[in-house]
Amino acid sequence: MRGIAVGTHPRFLEHDPGPWHPERPERLRAVERALSRFEDALVRFSPTPAPRAAVEAVHLPAHVDALERFCLMGGGPLDADTTVNDASFDAALLAAGAGLDAVQLLASEVADAAFLPLRPPGHHATSDTAMGFCLLNNVAIVARELTRRGERVLILDFDAHHGNGTEAIFREDPNVLYVSTHQYPLFPGTGRIGDVGVGRGVGTTINLPLPPRSTGLTARVALESIALPHVVDFHPTWALVSAGYDGHPADPLTELDFRSPDFAAFVALALDVVRPGRTIVFLEGGYDLEALEHGTAVTIATLLHERVDCGEAPSTDVDHDLVATLARLRADSLARARDARGE
Ligand SMILES: [Zn+2]
Repeated sequence: MRGIAVGTHPRFLEHDPGPWHPERPERLRAVERALSRFEDALVRFSPTPAPRAAVEAVHLPAHVDALERFCLMGGGPLDADTTVNDASFDAALLAAGAGLDAVQLLASEVADAAFLPLRPPGHHATSDTAMGFCLLNNVAIVARELTRRGERVLILDFDAHHGNGTEAIFREDPNVLYVSTHQYPLFPGTGRIGDVGVGRGVGTTINLPLPPRSTGLTARVALESIALPHVVDFHPTWALVSAGYDGHPADPLTELDFRSPDFAAFVALALDVVRPGRTIVFLEGGYDLEALEHGTAVTIATLLHERVDCGEAPSTDVDHDLVATLARLRADSLARARDARGE
């Protein structure tokens, strides 16, 4: 029993988008309250900054330079949602580096899985735009590095928002399977069921958009019936999870109905499709502190193949009509995309 690698750094707390911002340093204190319940099972590490080459394998160099300059000059708002300070660029490089360090720790069998409570989060960041509280795309930087080494990467994104950045970065890449459940419509407006990938990447994007108030069980049934057969066929060698806990009904930004046991089920789905020691969970969103604490606790417990009771029952309602409609629309879109490629 080696335990769960957890990468934390004081810089993650120093990235501060300002008062009243939902993506606030207190989030990591809520995560720490959950982690303290598992301290004996954690392999703590202090991340190193991601090398520039790994960052620029995903992001345009001019964009990275501009972001660095803006932060070094003191920062400010990048758009209506995304604000940085003088610590933000360092924090972003360390957040990206944490994933690369986790790959090394798992590959050398120092830990059984990894959980990375990162700030700033990453899944909205595109190759040339910081947006949606995200500066650099942490999960994408790791996925790109893994594919460079010949690996096949599943990215499972259960954040309540669609990971537009991650999808855009890999939509033409046949070696990265991007699977997302998300509220739709919701920021950033992407993640339609008909977006199935582009060119050689046709089939390796799976979007499961869910209307407000959809339950975690509906998401699980959609994942298991629509996505899982493709995931199994894809034969991933690594599973990277974009874990956002903002699907919880207490979350102030969204309107889904995902409970802690549902988050555990999402993590288990990723854990079960790769061999032991090949799963890394990246923190994305989650803005209700108690829901974030409970989500973290069930995630760590699941990675340890344990159960933890947060006092919440799993959801029991399933919208089977919705799941059937999503399955039909995706199958139609995939057939059209494959026809267009002459497959
Ligand atoms: Zn989110």
